[in-house]
Amino acid sequence: MRTPLVAGNWKLNGSRPANAQLVDAVLAGVPAAGKCRVMVCPPYVYLADIAQRLQGTSVELAAQDVAEQPDGAFTGEVSAAMLAELGCTHTLIGHSERRTLFGETDNVTAGKFIAAQEAGLIPILCVGETLSEREAGQTQAVVDRQLAAVLDASSVHALATAVVAYEPVWAIGTGLTATPEQAQAVHSAIRSRVAAADAKIAENLIILYGGSMKPGNAAELLAMPDIDGGLIGGASLVAEDFLAICAAAAGTA
Ligand code: PEP
Repeated sequence: MRTPLVAGNWKLNGSRPANAQLVDAVLAGVPAAGKCRVMVCPPYVYLADIAQRLQGTSVELAAQDVAEQPDGAFTGEVSAAMLAELGCTHTLIGHSERRTLFGETDNVTAGKFIAAQEAGLIPILCVGETLSEREAGQTQAVVDRQLAAVLDASSVHALATAVVAYEPVWAIGTGLTATPEQAQAVHSAIRSRVAAADAKIAENLIILYGGSMKPGNAAELLAMPDIDGGLIGGASLVAEDFLAICAAAAGTA
């Protein structure tokens, strides 16, 4: 039985007071414990503030990215150990904006995945195809390649302490959403691929959908058997919308 997880990716948004207000509003409305796990991913500089506000609550804290290296001469980077020290339990890895805007390759993504796990963080590995890749019929091949990069660098056992997020690039921040059937097809293929290596790990693997999930479309996406929650961008910046998605996820528990 997989407990649904809803994670809010705040990206490069907010300010110190605005983000404190946002997390307080989320805390005021989280669904009953056990029905849905709720997580927020603030910008690095607000992690300590937000961690303090989350203390003693059920809401979990994740970073949006992590360095591939544990320490050293890597100006501007933040290591997994530092994030864990601040109270993060998870970190996004390979978000499409990191891949497309910052040139992160499959190899870099795999390195970050391993670095996160070595420091005790749970990676949320983002995979997904661009519009042209979907139109060329390459969706599954792309997702397979992105997943294989991590599996080849570690092993299927690494997925026992990881989360996967399927985020079609064409649906992120665009208002376009994969239909429940399109998303389910990819989620199910991801689970089958993992099951071919280890059925139990596949059965327990949480696979999130991300891409313009909103209160109006969350319930039908979350009702699909292999969609175990959401990675939410835009809608996570409005507490009411984010909480409505959490409530929809809690309804599927
Ligand atoms: C995201 O940033 O991961 C995302 C899914 O964004 P949005 O919900 O805005 O499409």
